Amino acid sequence: ATVLAIETSCDETSVAIVKNRHVLSNVVASQIKTHAQYGGVVPEVASRQHVEAVNILIEQALSEAGLGWDGIDAIAGTCAPGLIGALLVGLTAAKTLSMLYQKPFIGVHHLEGHIYASYLSNPELQPPFLCLLVSGGHTSLIHVKACGDYVVLGKTRDDAAGEAFDKVARLMQLGYPGGPIIDKLAKDGNPRAFELPEGKISLPEGRGFHPYDSSFSGLKTAMLRLIQKLEVTEDPLPVADLAASFQYTVAKALTKRAIRCALDHGLTTIAVGGGVAANSGLRSQLQTAATAQGLNVLFPPLKYCTDNAAMIACAAVEHFDKDHRSALNLAAQSRLSVDRVMELYV
Ligand code: ATP
Ligand code: MG
Ligand code: FE
Repeated sequence: ATVLAIETSCDETSVAIVKNRHVLSNVVASQIKTHAQYGGVVPEVASRQHVEAVNILIEQALSEAGLGWDGIDAIAGTCAPGLIGALLVGLTAAKTLSMLYQKPFIGVHHLEGHIYASYLSNPELQPPFLCLLVSGGHTSLIHVKACGDYVVLGKTRDDAAGEAFDKVARLMQLGYPGGPIIDKLAKDGNPRAFELPEGKISLPEGRGFHPYDSSFSGLKTAMLRLIQKLEVTEDPLPVADLAASFQYTVAKALTKRAIRCALDHGLTTIAVGGGVAANSGLRSQLQTAATAQGLNVLFPPLKYCTDNAAMIACAAVEHFDKDHRSALNLAAQSRLSVDRVMELYV
């Protein structure tokens, strides 16, 4: 099937057309430059920019795919989770097109999209597998049992991995978003320069630590203290060493949990998704550890790690093929856990 999808859950407006697991077009208008001046995403500004961009991107996606509306089998839109005003723009556009052109409408869960990003470069991939989803808002280990059947085995108790990158970059006054900036700086630093806490979650009654859950707020505080201490003696700050040590610690924590979780559940493939899947430190640590354990690890190309509509369309194709359809009064929801995606279909 061929699906046109619209993604507006945060600060990227994106429209894509995907035929089965093959991307025919994927256009993205990023608002990063706009929000960078505020140091983070301003929801009201994001909504307005989605409104300005969405129609142009729909036209562009069709023309790049070389298709008219008669070549589209269904129209999809991200409906949850995300910024409510931002979600409403893409969702309303998708529903309107569905009514206008008499095509089935499919609402898609944004995190299911991040899971499906791995199918775009690995069309042969089949469940079951483990998804390590590391993004601006989530850090989850998800057992992918089948399309629509997800079990969350581990998650963050506080900050998400991407959020930690963004907050630590702000501490070092490096700019927004922090992930790519820290990644670049870390290449020139020593990852062992500073020893940092990886953020373990204690189990009750001294039964050790939670094997899959993570925490990044303690690491962020440790970075703050370290920076405050170094500021007294070092000018300029050793930013490359700080970035490399921080990145190494995050990658180590994520790698340890993902490998342990895959082995415990007999899953031989780990598919990584979300913006932090672009991180070079995570890519190399996880690849090395997985190879040592005889596990297979898949990283989407960078353009499908951060938000894009191709991954949303890819998930929608599979729902379409399974005759899952959404009602035209489907609501946008700022929060919805990924194990509830089947509530989106009638
Ligand atoms: P969610 O998907 O949870 O709703 P989101 O859509 O905002 O959140 P994504 O767009 O998937 O998140 O990812 C954005 C995050 O990825 C940002 O926090 C950004 O700093 C981080 N990121 C992007 N590239 C890198 C990188 N190379 N290294 C580390 N982090 C990165
Ligand atoms: Mg984003
Ligand atoms: Fe995302």
